[in-house]
Amino acid sequence: MNAVTTNLCGRIFFVDSLMPENVIIVGGGLSGLAAACALAERGVRVTLLESRPRLGGRAGSFTDRTTGTQIDNCQHVTMGCCTNFQKFCDTVGVSELFRRETQLNFVGPDGSIDTLASSWLPAPLHLFGGFRRLRYLSRADRRCLSRGLRSLARTRPANDDRQTFADWLREHRQTPTAIERFWKVVLVSALSETLDRIDVASARKVFVDAFLANRRGWEVQIPTVPLDELYGSRLTDWLTNRHATIRLKCGVEQLLVEDDRVKAVELRGDERLDADEFILAVPHQRVAALLPESLRTIPEVAGLDCLESAPIASVHLWFDRPLTDLPHAAFLERLSQWMFNRTELQSDDVSTPPHYYYQIVISASRSIAGMTQEQVIETVVAELAEVWPAVGEAQLVHSRLVTEQKAVFSVLPGADAWRPAQQSFIANLQFAGDWTRTGWPATMEGAVRSGYLAAENVLARLGRPEKLLAPDLPTAPLSKILLGL
Ligand SMILES: Cc1cc2nc3c(=O)[nH]c(=O)nc-3n(C[C@H](O)[C@H](O)[C@H](O)COP(=O)(O)OP(=O)(O)OC[C@H]3O[C@@H](n4cnc5c(N)ncnc54)[C@H](O)[C@@H]3O)c2cc1C
Repeated sequence: MNAVTTNLCGRIFFVDSLMPENVIIVGGGLSGLAAACALAERGVRVTLLESRPRLGGRAGSFTDRTTGTQIDNCQHVTMGCCTNFQKFCDTVGVSELFRRETQLNFVGPDGSIDTLASSWLPAPLHLFGGFRRLRYLSRADRRCLSRGLRSLARTRPANDDRQTFADWLREHRQTPTAIERFWKVVLVSALSETLDRIDVASARKVFVDAFLANRRGWEVQIPTVPLDELYGSRLTDWLTNRHATIRLKCGVEQLLVEDDRVKAVELRGDERLDADEFILAVPHQRVAALLPESLRTIPEVAGLDCLESAPIASVHLWFDRPLTDLPHAAFLERLSQWMFNRTELQSDDVSTPPHYYYQIVISASRSIAGMTQEQVIETVVAELAEVWPAVGEAQLVHSRLVTEQKAVFSVLPGADAWRPAQQSFIANLQFAGDWTRTGWPATMEGAVRSGYLAAENVLARLGRPEKLLAPDLPTAPLSKILLGL
């Protein structure tokens, strides 16, 4: 328990010997950061150990040598339904560094651009008019989609359901155009997987949470600064102001377990750090190696090997002139899936003219595995030229392709069975990470939820139980009546 006492002069000071609650968090991605912030805010002594020279994990930036600017490994966006990520940003004071999009731009197969915006109607009808105006969907496609969405909302997939969403769509007689121009566009970017590798429950979650349950769920929020600024310098200040210790370039070699308790972590270079509670917030591929060999065969650990991963690629392009003033656009039936106009979105001088910086995202990017970097960039630039004629005259000043091979775990049917709870088989060890059991796919929201759940368990063990998880957006009354949500 955090002990605060006063001396004779009435000044408040902390009594160290009465502060046994010392928590070590291994991993400075969003899951570790969320846990660290929640605990430090409640006066728990936190030490965060991160092997890289920066915080943020997969949501990070690096310096592009040619332009000398900080660029993100890939554009990260969040949505209105991500209530815990929102709570995290509000808590640490970075919410104002996101731009909220009230409409989404879609580039049809013929290059024409349609805009989706919500009306004044309550959910689930708020996007109804918007969908009717998408010219690349025929009336028959829209009817078929509306039937499909109603069926999906009413579906309750069993835990052991092995059906893929591609099969579900066929079973529910969705037309090839509706699949290609609607289901695929939304799901591949939300879950970073192809439809034949997505389970029905994850697909349903995307549509229910983002589009059907609450009118705010679908609102996309895009950072206006590099991720490193969001989760690096600002969070370091916030945490250190709350007496947390952050150690970068501090890779943990292994957890030292004695008498069914984690006693300490051993760092690379043989340093040993003791603590009372531990949170292991590393990617799932790293967990087994950090545990003693005797624990690696425990089903929660061995099962992590069964989680497969999906790649995400991003093409970074700097032109000598602007191509469009749209902040973003989603593409249909192209290799490029999303364009983010970083010059338009960025609030600082990251892409100071004469460079105009665009980022193109390709989720579940296995199809580019056989292509060279030049081929991918050429294809993407040619696709942009089909939509924005300015590309034809523009000079491509600089470009690069970044592919994260293990970007997210694949939401394959049955994958949930391999995701362990935050409370591990050792009482004073919690797991955190987007791969733990959160009910969410691999997202910043999933990572933050896992961190909060791990922190809840730690607080309960310290005798001060508290609920940290923010509630989901409320389900609109009409969504309950019409869709049974
Ligand atoms: C290319 C790409 C695009 C994405 N786009 C989006 C998006 O648009 N929206 C969204 O919501 N999500 C997106 N995601 C997913 C999101 O980034 C992740 O779900 C989330 O950041 C995972 O956080 P985490 O803390 O679980 O794991 P990580 O971010 O992987 O953090 C784990 C940390 O542990 C550290 N570590 C590992 N081993 C050790 C060790 N031995 N000692 C100390 N530290 C160690 C690592 O360096 C890392 O910093 C994207 C991911 C990628 C890769």
